[in-house]
Amino acid sequence: MSANGGFDVLVIGSGASGLAAAVSAGRAGARVALATKGSLQSCNSAKAQGGIQAAFAEDDSPERHAEDVWRSSHETADMRLVEVLTSEAPSAIHWLEELGVAFTREHGSYRLARCGGATAKRLLQVGDRTGHAITTALREACEADGLTVYPKSPLASLEPGESGWRARIGEHTVDAATVVLAAGGRCYAEAAERGELSTNHPGATGEVTRLALDAGAEARDLDALQYHPNGGAWPETMQGYSIPETTRAYGAVLLNADGEEFTDSLGPRDVVAQAIVDEVTKGNGVETPDGRPAVYLDTTRISQHDAELSLPYMLRRYRACGIDPLVEPILTYPVLHYQNGGLVIDADAETTLEGVFACGEIAGGTHGRNRMMGNSLLECVVFGRRAGRAAAKRASE
Ligand SMILES: Cc1cc2nc3c(=O)[nH]c(=O)nc-3n(C[C@H](O)[C@H](O)[C@H](O)COP(=O)(O)OP(=O)(O)OC[C@H]3O[C@@H](n4cnc5c(N)ncnc54)[C@H](O)[C@@H]3O)c2cc1C
Repeated sequence: MSANGGFDVLVIGSGASGLAAAVSAGRAGARVALATKGSLQSCNSAKAQGGIQAAFAEDDSPERHAEDVWRSSHETADMRLVEVLTSEAPSAIHWLEELGVAFTREHGSYRLARCGGATAKRLLQVGDRTGHAITTALREACEADGLTVYPKSPLASLEPGESGWRARIGEHTVDAATVVLAAGGRCYAEAAERGELSTNHPGATGEVTRLALDAGAEARDLDALQYHPNGGAWPETMQGYSIPETTRAYGAVLLNADGEEFTDSLGPRDVVAQAIVDEVTKGNGVETPDGRPAVYLDTTRISQHDAELSLPYMLRRYRACGIDPLVEPILTYPVLHYQNGGLVIDADAETTLEGVFACGEIAGGTHGRNRMMGNSLLECVVFGRRAGRAAAKRASE
């Protein structure tokens, strides 16, 4: 075990939130180390397809965005955090562009889609590999800025130290004035325990939340887990795949066995997921060839133009399995997807432990008990930047 003093900010996790925090802390003048469980590339963020919300449309505003979050959360979100999220969304997008993210454009402006629970078109996309584009740009910034990186170094303990915090990460012991926890949610582990499918990466196991709770941090809504309404149900190789919500934004609708629409396909996530489960329970669903419950997602209603611009990866994946979603409907059923709650934070992303910050899926409050799609990547960037800057400032005091 090697002891290593001398960091201002230690970031745990290399998803969008950890990378955004590390880059921001470094650019605020801090000596930064970033530790992550696997390779730098492995995280949920890179799997995100659909997009990222920001109010750019003429009929939209940060206030309207905030109202949609409040309503979709069933009035459980922390409005201090929501206001930060929606008001800083446009500048977060411009920051990503400066780092090289090229959002899909059309007719001279962003191509915007309306996502579930939204009252305006607000979802920016990079084709249907938005998370991949964002994490690649952030990783390149980390590398260009020369930050110290510890891959394959899972956080195993976190304790108060002489000048801040002492962390055991893999084989190393690291002291840092401040720590940013950005280790994501726990839906992979939770699905394995329940014997269910999940969209999540195998690293999404939640032990960092447990370490923070053991150190005395407060959490909220940890029981509120989100099912993605549209997990792939068939073919077998697509089981657990999250069919982008943009399929529904671009015209796909949910149908029962009789070909009838049974819910508003663009309702809030929890409402749509529950409607599918209820329809199947009523005996109106279909069965996959391996006996799993499902309903149809009629993707044949999506235009070729929209599909080619905004769903190329999804099309490629299904076509490689011999199914063309533009020719036949696909089978879908809800899958475990997202941890809505998490560590309690303030507007600077500081937890209830002094000098310990949290951002991204590990933090709670921004979405209350039900997140809108496209707001998680946004949360990662907005609160990742805030966490990085605040952690750097605290370290310098
Ligand atoms: C398939 C899929 C599609 C999605 N689509 C969208 C979308 O279109 N729009 C949207 O807004 N959101 C989407 N989401 C949600 C969103 O991508 C995630 O919630 C968000 O990216 C989480 O980012 P994060 O940085 O908090 O965590 P992650 O990206 O999960 O990163 C966590 C990091 O912490 C590391 N880690 C875990 N444990 C430890 C440990 N003990 N020690 C050190 N490191 C550790 C992990 O290895 C990983 O690097 C999607 C999610 C999935 C799974």
